[in-house]
Amino acid sequence: MLAELPPASLRLRIDRAALIDNWRALDRLSGSASAGAAVKADGYGLGVEHVVPALQEAGARAFFVAHWSEVPGVLAHVPGEQVAVLHGVANAQEVAFARATGTVPVLNSLHQLALWQAGGGGRCHVMVDTGMNRLGLSAGELGDPLLAGADIDLLLSHLASAEDDSPQNGRQLARFREAVAQVPSRRRSLANSAGIALGPDYHFDLTRPGLALYGGVPCDELAGQIRQVAHVETAVLQVRQLQPGDTVGYNATWTADRPTRSATVALGYADGILRSWGASGALHHDGTRLPIIGRVSMDMIVVDLGDAQLKEGDFCRLSYDLPQAAQTSGLTQYELLTVLGHRFARTS
Ligand SMILES: *Cc1c(COP(=O)(O)O)cnc(C)c1O
Repeated sequence: MLAELPPASLRLRIDRAALIDNWRALDRLSGSASAGAAVKADGYGLGVEHVVPALQEAGARAFFVAHWSEVPGVLAHVPGEQVAVLHGVANAQEVAFARATGTVPVLNSLHQLALWQAGGGGRCHVMVDTGMNRLGLSAGELGDPLLAGADIDLLLSHLASAEDDSPQNGRQLARFREAVAQVPSRRRSLANSAGIALGPDYHFDLTRPGLALYGGVPCDELAGQIRQVAHVETAVLQVRQLQPGDTVGYNATWTADRPTRSATVALGYADGILRSWGASGALHHDGTRLPIIGRVSMDMIVVDLGDAQLKEGDFCRLSYDLPQAAQTSGLTQYELLTVLGHRFARTS
């Protein structure tokens, strides 16, 4: 094995201080509740090995992943009792894995509760559905004796429209309160990032921010409180001089109407910079905007250099300010984070 890391022409710089500040801001905004952290999907694409230690340093003590396959990466940094698996248990193997690692399933159905009890049970979390109709026990199931016999730490539900000023929020809150009154548990949790901004009624004991930790701004109330965390930088592979009439890229969708210096840079849709960036996207160098020209390829993007003094081997950046990047690319802020590929050299 090589002792050195390979040279990287594609970098994803994770601003550790900003991540820590974001968790602390969200924890503060959670009032008397404490903030946990959703770190599923490899820490929203940024890399659990970077985000989990930083969030732990910030003060987070409850981490949420979706799949059991995501557990080992988190367990490398935090004790199993702090790790919750949102998909719950589907079979005896998953029950055994949870018990062996001390990680805690979020049980979503009576079937999952029965599997857990049959495998020996113990501390668990329980998700109730309050109107999203995705995962969780429905109101009619909350009187089941399986619940009375379970050792429930967290009782959770998930908001479907927290980023909107929607009457669905109040309806879900009312249903969650009914569930809380009916199901004995040690702690309760309802709010995701945007749910925190809905105010103290939604905070209960633990909040579960994800997106906003990583620089996403799901609602106006959080604007100005959240710092950008992910920074994308890529190297210039080649500089070219184009003449009027020259076309660029697959299917020749862009034609030079004047002499143009272009640069080909080392990132593409395989890295998560999807073709939808092409229409109005740009890279930047020293404050100069470098518009994307032609189609985004798998491994490359071509930009118009204008007057920028960029040479082969120099780095430029793709602005990953998430609210703005969402407008430019047509992707959601969630998608922008989780599509980031495996070729980035992630640093923090
Ligand atoms: C992903 C997820 C979160 C985090 O949501 P954000 O909108 O990213 O803050 C919280 N709770 C559950 C159940 C989730 O699946």
